[in-house]
Amino acid sequence: MNFLHTLTGSLSQPAAGNPTVAMVEAAYRHHGMAWRYVNAEVPPERLADAVRGARAMGWAGFNCSLPHKVTVIEHLDRLGSSAQIIGAVNTVVHRDGLLVGENTDGQGFIEALRPVCSIEGQRVALFGAGGAARAVAVELALAGAAHITVVNRGRPRGQALADLITAKTQASAEYLHWLPAMPIPACTGIVVNATSIGLHPHIDDQLDIDWATLRPGMVVADAIPNPPRTHLIRTAEAAGCTVLDGLGMLVNQGAIAIRLWSGVDVDRAVMRRALEDLFGSPA
Ligand code: NDP
Repeated sequence: MNFLHTLTGSLSQPAAGNPTVAMVEAAYRHHGMAWRYVNAEVPPERLADAVRGARAMGWAGFNCSLPHKVTVIEHLDRLGSSAQIIGAVNTVVHRDGLLVGENTDGQGFIEALRPVCSIEGQRVALFGAGGAARAVAVELALAGAAHITVVNRGRPRGQALADLITAKTQASAEYLHWLPAMPIPACTGIVVNATSIGLHPHIDDQLDIDWATLRPGMVVADAIPNPPRTHLIRTAEAAGCTVLDGLGMLVNQGAIAIRLWSGVDVDRAVMRRALEDLFGSPA
């Protein structure tokens, strides 16, 4: 008998509303893994202690959520290549005594997108310039997207993201200030909402875009996982676009994290079902 489980978890504040524990533990159970995932409330002034504790207790790794995605970096030994460009970490892997920071948010998005369309040469309209948008933009550019138009309300973050893509990847990028009834730029193949508009409980909030510029043939992805069927997803679907909800990204980023920690490629359907039980089925 083995009463010693391998520990993983999440460090964030506030932690109570973070559903990751439900989907990760569903995967551990499904695969008969003697692993646990602990959802921990960690204020910024306790982050250094929490990371030291995870290292001391031999945790296999942990996720970092708000507000620690950037500040955790100073407590780590190394960064993975895309985390280095993004400048933020959502997954820490404890390997050979070293803590390595990775960012699986954008990778999760790419894994959800690949079965739906090719990324190579695509022109992307990306709404938002926060942490999720940075991760998605960098991974899209590394995956071969040709051009990324960053549309954001606040100019400094939007311009900084466009500049980052131009400087650190092969893709070209521009920033457009978000004007009322913003049109989707011509020739856009992929539209992504990486703002927090539509996130529960503000489920009726809508992107201020010219809906007539959504065209059949476009792929429209929403990073919002809860609810999965946002106003954007429903409207894009009605316009004949191919749609991708935020659950796919959330499930994939979690599955990639588990793979980095354990080497096990877990069943994503099990994780998705665990979230659908919480958020309501997107069917
Ligand atoms: P941030 O706070 O870093 O960024 C929020 C972004 O939304 C900014 O670009 C902000 O613009 C924009 N924004 C917020 N409100 C409005 C508004 N009313 N009008 C226009 N723009 C607005 O958050 P994150 O990037 O970390 O997360 C964004 C969303 O992505 C969250 O809802 C989160 O749930 C989701 N997410 C999903 C993941 C998944 O796996 N599915 C993973 C990570 C995040 P400005 O700069 O002008 O303030």
